[in-house]
Amino acid sequence: MPGIPICAAMTEMTETFSDTLLGFTVPERNARGRVVRMDRVLDAVLSAHDYPAPITHLLGEALVLGALMGGLLKGETAQMTIQAQTNGGIVKLLVCDYRAGAVRGYVDFDGARLGTLGANPTLEALFGEGYLGITFETEADQRYQGIVPLEGASLAEACESYFSQSEQIPTLIRVASRAGGNGRAAAGMLVQHLADGEEGRERLHVRLDHPDWEHVAVLAGTISHDELLDPALSLEAIVWRLFNEEEEVRVLPGAALTRGCRCSPEHYTAIIARFPADEQQGMRGPDGVIAVDCAFCSRTFALAI
Ligand SMILES: [Zn+2]
Repeated sequence: MPGIPICAAMTEMTETFSDTLLGFTVPERNARGRVVRMDRVLDAVLSAHDYPAPITHLLGEALVLGALMGGLLKGETAQMTIQAQTNGGIVKLLVCDYRAGAVRGYVDFDGARLGTLGANPTLEALFGEGYLGITFETEADQRYQGIVPLEGASLAEACESYFSQSEQIPTLIRVASRAGGNGRAAAGMLVQHLADGEEGRERLHVRLDHPDWEHVAVLAGTISHDELLDPALSLEAIVWRLFNEEEEVRVLPGAALTRGCRCSPEHYTAIIARFPADEQQGMRGPDGVIAVDCAFCSRTFALAI
């Protein structure tokens, strides 16, 4: 069984590291989870953009969700991508992905219309009628994609719907974020029930009312935003606080989180090469160079193709 059993002493000894992902399981209940907290990584991703507060908040939530869901995957090449899209919404597109601890994301939005919304716009005000696409690409090149309506009070709720509708896995997700004061921070927790107790097996009897899941969901649901963001509480301490009355809880260290972008001159050269020669010609500046901006990290590449 992966991971090591957690005990009270561990939660006291473990320092609080930011930009960290922790996995855990409650074996008797067939439940597994992830807890994540990010601050420097969040600043690094957001510093590439000059986003207003509501968009910063939205992308922060998406990055936490990316780490929580992407952290379920095994392997260096496995990737999880979140894509939220609308027709005519103020936020046109939000993309965020996770690969081996590296997170990145960007938002394309209408700044003028956003300015009319006030400080705390609802998800519906931001997106209007939209949908959320979630794609898991495994190490073995298997690809799972699900698309759900972008509904609910938050991106986290929409992700819960993805798991219940597309994957039939009962899932609880909480995300909290904070700006100002002690700096920007975001944190989250994901807990889900694997009815057959083994990851990857076909689940024939999915029940949202399974007594084990009800029990785990009630415990996990008591976590507060303040606890998720409290620097005095380590991630281990959060898990311990919620599940210490269970027979056993095991924790497994997750990847250290980093800001990652996989853009490179070679990457963009390969993309440009797919365009017909006359279209490539139209992309060239007066000096014959094609300039490409990476939407994720805002780096500019001058390609002399
Ligand atoms: Zn980039």
